[in-house]
Amino acid sequence: MTYHVHRPHGIMFHHFYDHAHPKGQGAISANDLEKIIRFLGPDRILTAKEWAQRSLARTLRPGNLCITFDDNLLCQYDVALPILRHFGITAFWFAPTAVLEGNLERLELYRFFRTTTFDTIDDFYSAFFRTIEHSAYAAIVEPAMMTFKADQYLKDFTFYTSNDRRFRFIRDHVLGPDKYNNIMDSMLDAADFDRRTTGRRLWMTEAMLRELASDGHIIGLHSHTHPTNLAALDRNDQLTEYQKSKARLTEIIGSKPITMSHPCNSYNRDTIDVLRNLASKSVFRANMAMTEVPSDFELPREDHANILKLVEPI
Ligand SMILES: [Zn+2]
Repeated sequence: MTYHVHRPHGIMFHHFYDHAHPKGQGAISANDLEKIIRFLGPDRILTAKEWAQRSLARTLRPGNLCITFDDNLLCQYDVALPILRHFGITAFWFAPTAVLEGNLERLELYRFFRTTTFDTIDDFYSAFFRTIEHSAYAAIVEPAMMTFKADQYLKDFTFYTSNDRRFRFIRDHVLGPDKYNNIMDSMLDAADFDRRTTGRRLWMTEAMLRELASDGHIIGLHSHTHPTNLAALDRNDQLTEYQKSKARLTEIIGSKPITMSHPCNSYNRDTIDVLRNLASKSVFRANMAMTEVPSDFELPREDHANILKLVEPI
């Protein structure tokens, strides 16, 4: 079987596991990455620099591919980089910058907590629902769940379980970010979870980013604090996110980053306007959907999970 998508696009990677990095939801091994690269065909994967040049010159050809990593994760450096080196492949690394200043980014921290503290994701969900029942938020969550129909919510995502749907509905529609963070923080506290030590196992350091850049990889923007709903911020806050991040990455790698990927695929016209003003080029979205007017600010990417399904059909 060969991979037949003709539109040039990136392959998007997030989490990897090995003896030192736990196997959370969606994490893949070095061996999985190797299988994916062999399946795609290493020769079709352009070096990051060549992709960037062709993208600027508008000479990307059907079937051209590139590899991308989001979120500045240490597991990518530890697990994926040796495989890339083996194949002589360079990639794009889209790095949020607040974590380089010692800020603990909640999305990753909570993910690590979920993975390492509970045997299964359903054990985590039970603890989460129980924590809410015993919190002040029970008064808003209980009535909201009376009319909730799990089979109707996010029904396009066929792989979600009904607990996945309940959890996402409560997080995104009933609690919202602040109350959700309060619940999660109370769970971390109750488990005596060590946030600082965990932070050192989650993110790459500046020195690692410099090393990648000097090896020919391209470091790009992915916002400063990685908001999950960046499009909900007003234009000024979006500008601050990307200005800060650009200044910080310029300091670290010694040249101005011009490529980027949209965190959580969240962006709007303001975002594109802001990025244009910051001279960003070769900007990636987080899926293969076609936009009405395809632009240089919405290059498609395929999630590695969809490719792995083709490599190893279930
Ligand atoms: Zn991200």
